[in-house]
Parts: sequence; structure tokens; C-alpha cells
Amino acid sequence: MTADQRRRARMFRAARIAVLVLVVAYFLLPYGVRSWIPVWLLFVLALALEADFFVGGWLQSRRSEPVAEAPDPGPQQRDLSDLGSWGYWDPSAPTPPVELDPGFRWIHVAEAVGALAIVAVLLYAASRPHGWNAVSAVRQAKTETILSREASGIARHPASVRCDKKGEYVGFVQDADGLAEIGGDQAFLTPDICDTLYQLAIKHRVQSFSRTGRAIAVLSHESWHLRGVRDEGLANCYGFQTGVDIGVNLGLSEDRASAMMREQLATNAQDSGSNSQYRVPSSCRDGGADDLKPSKDGFP
Ligand SMILES: [Zn+2]
Repeated sequence: MTADQRRRARMFRAARIAVLVLVVAYFLLPYGVRSWIPVWLLFVLALALEADFFVGGWLQSRRSEPVAEAPDPGPQQRDLSDLGSWGYWDPSAPTPPVELDPGFRWIHVAEAVGALAIVAVLLYAASRPHGWNAVSAVRQAKTETILSREASGIARHPASVRCDKKGEYVGFVQDADGLAEIGGDQAFLTPDICDTLYQLAIKHRVQSFSRTGRAIAVLSHESWHLRGVRDEGLANCYGFQTGVDIGVNLGLSEDRASAMMREQLATNAQDSGSNSQYRVPSSCRDGGADDLKPSKDGFP
């Protein structure tokens, strides 16, 4: 293998690693962005890389026939003319094996097959339905009924909560986990929020403490919009408090539901970031003007 071919093999190894990093990065993308990138595109990219490596390598070896020949162990022309003899040639000596293609190495084939297999397995896993999309239609409807019941209880009028699978109203593009008309009867949640609430209400599973707390807080927040509260900070303040009831109704102990909402309240300023309208008012504290149950100890 020439230095050129070695350099080329190293370059392609780096490209393979880059493709794998790209595939892993694809997994880390928010669902909204990922759904815009077709899965087969990444596989075609990996396939094109390998095709380029092997076809390109084959063409290269065709173009540049071995430049530096191995030193000939046989008699040199000088020896032949000096000795003038063919007797030197021994027909019983083993013929050196013929090397088909100096650029070809099995390790490259193994590397290419391995890289393609990893990409294929990762992309297969990614393309399978997951999260809310993996939940059966019957269970999705059941979950929406439960969430609508919770929202109606807070809104104090019949309301329906829908999980916005197509991302028409909420999601990455709209930069919102939920949406509700002020005083209206319709709220939308992202499939991620719906899945977390489905896991809790029907599967009795807490995916993660913070995620579950966040999902409950979003449902509770939107319910307060349905009730007529326009102010985002107040909807958060009231939402954290009624979130305890939602958590209990969905199967959590009161202590755990309170702890989740206390965490949401504690991270409120940080979660709001530059959107200061989402910060709860200073009166959102135990015994404060926005305490819905001033006689009760502990907040929320
Ligand atoms: Zn809001």
C-alpha cells in the first residue's frame, strides 16, 4: 500500500466517524426538527461514502499502476550478459503470490461493512414509531379524555385537550409545549408532553421526576388560560398549585406531586429565561396574594 493510499484510508476512516457522529447527533435533535430530515438520507450518505471509497480506490489503482516495483531478486541484466546463462532460473522455485490490487485490504471491507451496519441499526431504531406515536389510537383517545377532564376541572367549564401530533399549533416551530385560547374550550399539547402524561396516568410510570413535573405544569398552565387567565406569570403561579391536584388525580402521592411542583416553581425563573412574562409574580408564595389555599401550609 502506498503512502497515498494510506492517507486516503485514514481520510475515509475520519469521514466514517463523522457520519456516525452525524447519525448520533440526529438522535439528539428535537423531534420537530428530526421529523423534517428523512432517515434514508443519512443512510444514502453513508452508502455514498463507502461507494466512493471502494470505486475511487479501484479507479486510482487502475490509473497509477505500481510505480515502485519491488526489487527483483532474480538475475539482473548485467548478470545475464556476464554469465549468459538461463541455468540460473530454477523452475521448481515457488512462484511468488500475485497481489491483485495493491490498495485492497480486508480490514477496509470490514470497516465499511461495520460502519454501514451501525448506521443501519441506529436509523432503523430511529424510524420506528416511538413516544406518543407508538401509543395505540385507543390509548391516545383515553389519555386525551383524562387530560380534558383535568383541564375542565380547572377551567370550570367543559374543555378538550388535544395532542398536536402534526405540530400545527404547538411544538418546536412554535416554540411552545402547549397552547390554549384565553377563556376558550380547546387546548393543545405537544406529543412529548402527552406521552409523559400518558405514561403517568395509564402506565403508572414516572419517566423522570422533572419531565413529569414539567408536563403536569404545562397542562395545568393551559387550563388556567382556558379559565380566562391571560397573564403568563399568573398562569404559571396558579398552574403550579393546581398541578398538585392533577398529579394526585393521575396517580401520584400528594407529597410527590407537591415536590414536583415545588421544583417547577424553583426553576421557574431559569426556565423562563429571557421571556420574563413567564416569571411568577413575587406574590406567588406561601400566604401571598396569589396563594390559592392560604390556610394550607407548604407551597405549592
Ligand atoms: Zn401560556
